[in-house]
Amino acid sequence: MPERIAKKIYQKILESESILLIPHQHPDGDALGSVTALMHILQRLGKRHSAFCATSTTEKLLFLPHANTVTTNIDVWQNHIDLIIVLDSGDLRYAGIDEHIKALPHRPFIINIDHHPTNERFGDLNLVIPEASSTTQILYHFFKVNAIDIDPHVATCLLTGIITDTGNFTNSATTTASLSIAGELVKRGGDIQLIKRIIFQSKSVNALKLWGAVLSRLEEHDTHKIVYSYITKADLDEHGVDDEEVEGLANFMNNLAEGKAALILREQESGRIKGSFRTTREDIDVSEIAKLLGGGGHKKAAGFSAEGTPEEVLAQVWAVMAKQSEAIQN
Ligand code: 5GP
Ligand code: MN
Repeated sequence: MPERIAKKIYQKILESESILLIPHQHPDGDALGSVTALMHILQRLGKRHSAFCATSTTEKLLFLPHANTVTTNIDVWQNHIDLIIVLDSGDLRYAGIDEHIKALPHRPFIINIDHHPTNERFGDLNLVIPEASSTTQILYHFFKVNAIDIDPHVATCLLTGIITDTGNFTNSATTTASLSIAGELVKRGGDIQLIKRIIFQSKSVNALKLWGAVLSRLEEHDTHKIVYSYITKADLDEHGVDDEEVEGLANFMNNLAEGKAALILREQESGRIKGSFRTTREDIDVSEIAKLLGGGGHKKAAGFSAEGTPEEVLAQVWAVMAKQSEAIQN
């Protein structure tokens, strides 16, 4: 942990009158765990603050303290803002706030706290640590460096990020640091059973039937060795399932021992297609492909979004991969 930056960030927070916290769009347990942990700290400090998300939050994450006050109302951008803190987002487009910032009369001070290797360092202060399993793990160190007390509420928020991003301590983000910090957070009152039940043990029968339908259409691309499938809005309607219940499907693909990587395409409410890459292979970095498609992420888990039908988006993916392997050969 670069202590100097962590201290500077805390100083900036203490100096600011009004603070806006931002998770990435379609926030997961890490993005929202980070935002809510900081909301709790800011509330304790008596700092005026709000949290804005460009999309709504999945209902299951509303167990996090303060999560129900994260707003999607763009009116927050009319308020005076001294400081923006963006959490768990590699760039301002993914955060969904680039246009809002451009429209402001003055660019506020921006703090960027994240663990994605593809992070664009868009902040005036950047606390970006790609080795960290989750953004909440960075916040854990940030709180330690600044002697900020981690109470049971904060512990639950931080632990939610670690459990989410390590896939319940199964994927490659599971390190000695994430395990020992998780242990420390449980000691401090983080409710590991509650988090596990809400994040992983919360699927309906209909949702699992839809998973079955999606899994039964898996295919493998002959040349690129990507194992892929897709979920449309019609699939969700047909099975009477919410968008949030298919969230874990991409992570489930980590069970695969064949192919180089898995790709799950998901038609979103807006009609855009969201792609999720996963791989467990040492020699594959899926964030490179995601970046070429305008997205980003980690070596073993990355994503992007694109316009078009699933077939059209797949064609874009294969085109990018063909170009990439051509470049490698030359
Ligand atoms: P998921 O597939 O679960 O949505 O995302 C996998 C990882 O890639 C997460 O760490 C997520 O934050 C990142 N990611 C997903 N989509 C995008 C995107 O469009 N842009 C960027 N920069 N990162 C993304
Ligand atoms: Mn994360």
